Parts: sequence; C-alpha cells; structure tokens
Amino acid sequence: MADMKRHFGLSSRMAIIALVLCMTSQAVGCRGTESVGQDVRAASTEEPGTGTALAEIAADERFDTELFAMDTFMTLSAFGPHAQEALAKAEEEILRLEAILSTGMDDSEVSRINENGEGTMSEVTASLMEASIKLWEVTGGAFNPAILPVMRLWGFTDGNYHVPEKGELDEVLTLLDVSRIEFDREAGSVRFGREGMAIDFGGIAKGYTSARVMDIFAGCGVKSAMVNLGGNVQTYGTKPDGKKWKIAVQDPRKEGNYLCVIESAGEAIITSGGYERYFEEDGVTYHHIIDPADGYPAFNGLVSVTIVSSDGTMADGLSTSLFVMGKDKAIEYWREHSDEFDMVLYTDKGELVVSEGLKERITSDYLINYVGRP
Ligand code: ADP
Ligand code: MG
Repeated sequence: MADMKRHFGLSSRMAIIALVLCMTSQAVGCRGTESVGQDVRAASTEEPGTGTALAEIAADERFDTELFAMDTFMTLSAFGPHAQEALAKAEEEILRLEAILSTGMDDSEVSRINENGEGTMSEVTASLMEASIKLWEVTGGAFNPAILPVMRLWGFTDGNYHVPEKGELDEVLTLLDVSRIEFDREAGSVRFGREGMAIDFGGIAKGYTSARVMDIFAGCGVKSAMVNLGGNVQTYGTKPDGKKWKIAVQDPRKEGNYLCVIESAGEAIITSGGYERYFEEDGVTYHHIIDPADGYPAFNGLVSVTIVSSDGTMADGLSTSLFVMGKDKAIEYWREHSDEFDMVLYTDKGELVVSEGLKERITSDYLINYVGRP
C-alpha cells in the first residue's frame, strides 16, 4: 500500500481564525481567547461578572468562547451585557446539534436513520433534509446529501484513507440517487429506496449551525457578534463601533496570508476548499469534497470557493456545490442566482474571480476579475 499521510486542516483553520480575531480586536479591547470552553463561564463569575450588574457591562465589552465540535475548532465572540448568556446558550446549542447530526457518533439521529434505512426526523434533521434536497435539485446534483457511502469508501469517515478500486466506486455510485429518498416533510419521515444509502449533512451542517447561533444572539438581545466555525464565519450586526466586520479569507496556498478581506454586517462568509481535509497516496493529494458524478474528489482547477450570503445554511451548501462545479459552471450558477449570494473563486492559476455584488466591500492584493450579471 502506498505511503499514506493523514492531514487534518486544523492549522489552516487556526490561521483563518487568528486572522479574523486580530482584525476585529484592533477596534475593540480584546478580553483574551486562551481558555477553551471555560471563557464564558469564567468571565461571568470572575472577571467582569463578580458583583457587576448587567447594566455595568459596556456595549463594546467583548467576550469569547472556544470549543472543538463537529470535527473542527470554533470561536465565538460577542459584545455587551447579554454576550455571556448568549455564548453559553450558543455553545449548548452547537453540542446539541452535533449530537443529532454527527455521522461519527453511532447514537446520533442521523446515524440511527442511516443504520435503519428509515426513521422519523426531528425538526433539525428534517429542515436540513429539506434544504439538502432543494440544493441537490438546484445545483444539478453537485450537492448530494447521500454522499456518505462514498466518504466511507475513501476512508474519510474513519481515517482509513485509501484510493478505492474503480469497481467499488461504481457500486456505491448507485447509492447516490437522491430521488430514491422518500421524504415526507410534514410527517418528518424518511425512507431510503435502496439498501446501503446513507445521508451526511457535513457539507451544510456548520452553516445551519451558525444560522441557529445568530437566532440565539437575536433572542438574547446581543447587538454585535461574530462566530467562526472552522472557516465558516457568520457575523451578527455590526462591530460595536457601528462599522462593518472585516473578514479575512485565508490564502490556501500561503499559510498565514490571506486572499482578500470582505466587509460584512450580518452575513455568513463560508469557504470550502480541498486544502482543509485530505490525504496523499503515491504523491497525489485526495481531498474530502466529492464530485457525485464520478465519486472522486473534485479536481477542476478551483482551490477554494467563498460564499457570502445572509443565509448561512445556503452559503455552506453552495460553497461545497460551487467547488464541485468548477469555475465556469459556478459563474453560470451565480448569474442565475445573483440575488441570493456573492462569491469568491480562487483558481490554481492564482486567479481571483469575484461576483460584482462584492465590488464595494472587498480588498485584495491579488488582481480581481469581476464577473457581472448577464
Ligand atoms: P468543510 O466541512 O470542511 O468546511 P464543506 O462545507 O465543503 O467543507 O463540506 C465538506 C463535507 O461535505 C465533506 O466532509 C462531506 O461530509 C460532505 N460532502 C462531500 N462532498 C459533498 C457533495 N458533493 N455534496 C454534499 N456534501 C458533500
Ligand atoms: Mg459547505
């Protein structure tokens, strides 16, 4: 067997996170981000919390929490009197969603449905199923929520990475027919029409999760916040000083550098790339975003795709989908849906292709090629 290396893109993810944090901390006093998970609770009892009434917490006082969930490193920052409560609730919700959606946990709802080939879905799973089927339809199958058997075959689910035999791949490709998923949204019931079919919301779950966290911020009365769920960034409101957030998108080919900076207020900025999770065999790199047409990692000249949209779930689903489509089809897709999102495509020739909706709020050292509406 070939020399195999395992890589998890944690260091790349850390880089994007670090960039985002340092850019935002210039504008406001940073309370430090060193402890994991404990930050919120510690802050609420020791730091400003002890004997401090909520009203005494300034609107620009920053609180952070960090956690590892959904197989990735997450940072959440919020400002003002309601921040600590909101962050604690957000963390709880992220762990709740992970326990429902994870394909890596045998007792998650998704795993139980995959095991039985059918089941009743909770509201969370049903709404992701609905969104995924819609995406499968509108992307012409580039997004495929039934991708799990292919992920398993390549070893992305258990770390036993290897390039599958062509015959094995052809066999599992027959399990990707999403039209064979019988899904009743009202009843919340699902049944797979073929034995062996299995669903995986990995391409959409973090965007859905960041959108739910925004709902929590709204419910708690937070005015200003930002989360980064492993390269999936979503901002809430503006920065406390009223200015827009500046989100740095990492350059996948130059660790520590960034491709561009995008201004955002209340939007998701979500990046997918083959550099995030991959292995090497015989000198070839194989990553975790699969073209459902042939079951191979999508190799089409795109290095990363960033989607900007107020809809976090869609932004995540589309970042995966447009990465699979490749540059030309991605541009075509944007032209048909330009009122729904904006995008930054980064190609292996170093070209930055940006939809014109971002023109006034993107900066980059790279030469940008804007694409316009037809
Ligand atoms: P990340 O989760 O690393 O941020 P993505 O959002 O692009 O990146 O999601 C990649 C994950 O999506 C894979 O790990 C797998 O679970 C799932 N996936 C891979 N290919 C597809 C596809 N064509 N359609 C839908 N989901 C996919
Ligand atoms: Mg995605």
